[in-house]
Amino acid sequence: MPKSTVFARSTGSAGEEGLVPYPADISDAYRAAGFWSGRTLPTELRAAAPQHAERTALITPEQTLGYRELFAAAEKFAAGLAASSGLRPGDAVMFQMGNVAETVIAYLGCLMAGIRPVCTLPQHGVREISVLARHVGARGLIAQADFRHGKLPEHARELRSGGVIGEIVIARGPSSAPDLSYADILGAGEGADPADLPYHTLDPRQIAVFQLSGGTTGLPKVAPRLHEEYAYNASAWAQALGWAPGTTVLYALPIMHNAGISVALQPALLSGATLVLAPSADTGTLLDLIETTRPDAIPLVPPALAVRLLDEPRSRHADLSSVTDFIIGGQKLPPEIAERLRDELGIRIRQKFGMAEGMFLVTPPHGSERMRHHTVGTPISPADEIRILEPGGDTEAADGEIGELCVRGPYTIRGYYRAEQHNAHAFTDDGFYRTGDLARRHAIDGMTCYSIDGRIKDVINRGVEKIHAEEVEELILRHPHVAGAALVAMPDRVLGERGCAYLVPEHDAPQLTVAALGDFLRAQGLAVYKLPERVEYLPSLPLSPVGKVAKKTLRDDIADSLAGESGASV
Ligand code: AMP
Repeated sequence: MPKSTVFARSTGSAGEEGLVPYPADISDAYRAAGFWSGRTLPTELRAAAPQHAERTALITPEQTLGYRELFAAAEKFAAGLAASSGLRPGDAVMFQMGNVAETVIAYLGCLMAGIRPVCTLPQHGVREISVLARHVGARGLIAQADFRHGKLPEHARELRSGGVIGEIVIARGPSSAPDLSYADILGAGEGADPADLPYHTLDPRQIAVFQLSGGTTGLPKVAPRLHEEYAYNASAWAQALGWAPGTTVLYALPIMHNAGISVALQPALLSGATLVLAPSADTGTLLDLIETTRPDAIPLVPPALAVRLLDEPRSRHADLSSVTDFIIGGQKLPPEIAERLRDELGIRIRQKFGMAEGMFLVTPPHGSERMRHHTVGTPISPADEIRILEPGGDTEAADGEIGELCVRGPYTIRGYYRAEQHNAHAFTDDGFYRTGDLARRHAIDGMTCYSIDGRIKDVINRGVEKIHAEEVEELILRHPHVAGAALVAMPDRVLGERGCAYLVPEHDAPQLTVAALGDFLRAQGLAVYKLPERVEYLPSLPLSPVGKVAKKTLRDDIADSLAGESGASV
């Protein structure tokens, strides 16, 4: 029986086309156990606020907002959207916003207006936004005018004239009709009664937010996050970390990414903590904010950022003593980085594994060094389930053996949005998500912990930003001088991985440089972070016994070349 039929038969109640619901008996069990509350995400977030009205909710280098002010602004934004835009409950809106207070207000405002944020990033190109907007049927886009080179409003208008989206909201910059301005929306919401906001009548079983998967093959997929489970994801994380009023949390990666929302923004707001939002992850900004705001937790530091901190002389003198939870995640952590952080900066790390599809693991605070340096710990919810399976199959790997990490639980999706074919092999028959990550189970100090030991999915993890090889290859192949293309990860000391393109020339066509290939791909709207950073030419691509491009051979080849080059340059 095709797996999609199994999902179609399950009697989940969300019932929305393209959404794979949790089976009804399982949803009921999650509610009965108290994991799911039966309330919507904005209801949960709003309900926590009055208890902390006088506390600081958000700090950015530009402003500090208390809980009362933050939620009042979000309510105005929600009411203003209803009054002055054509956007209605159930509509999806693309976000191209950086780490500024307006992003948080607009995100909360959309939730309260019953509008679904699509968590795209300001780094995404016109092409990705267009593909994803069509996929979810987005009707609007919120763009930050002063993000980097100020190109986002222009890109948004290009999408509108192409018929991809209807409404554009411009934040932090000039706008003229038919654009809507963020400030005008707030103005239009002035004086509205929060009791009339649409979120009071939403169905908690429905989609609250569209997150982007970093973890599959092919084009980026969309993870539909439902009200109840997304709220639970955040509260389970806050509980695992012991956050409470008085906790200060510093976050420096893009806030709209699933990690930003689920390990920083939502858990901080649910627990009455203060979120400090760094505008960028540059080490100077980070050290300034650590010294001025004295955070207790930095809930996601990619190994690449840890290396930058180690390389930064100022780190040696900075006062880092407030940080009790310095949590490394997003990429495989080489244990020597953990040791250097300990020895050179006096930092005791924890590790975290997580993904837009759900499932978070974290090492316990008092775990041994063996546990904290070599594993990503244990799942954050007692109802999370993990199986380590033979890749693509259903046979369990023995303890200590490598297999594919497969996960299921009260905040892990049951299927990508509108992706029936892909879902048929991305999930097991009984609803475990096949992550494409390789993992092992270990018994350490009486606990079962997991280590991440590689990847089978065709994704390059560039300093936590994911590059889907197939997406880039498909665009490269449009170049008239290219007959074959394979994008593979090359090791990088700072970012962990970068993309290297192996190309086969078309007949006697001239070879492309990295810059020429980059110009070509950018002209097609590809995000800059996805551009190949090295080009290698081959007469033909090596093939595996089953006729697929042998990417492992190419990865080994480029790793050897780089090792040879760095050896030669010593
Ligand atoms: P995203 O959905 O963008 O958050 O990416 C999730 C993916 O990032 C996972 O499936 C892994 O491939 C990778 N990842 C996240 N955390 C870790 C970690 N601690 N170690 C190794 N890989 C990780």
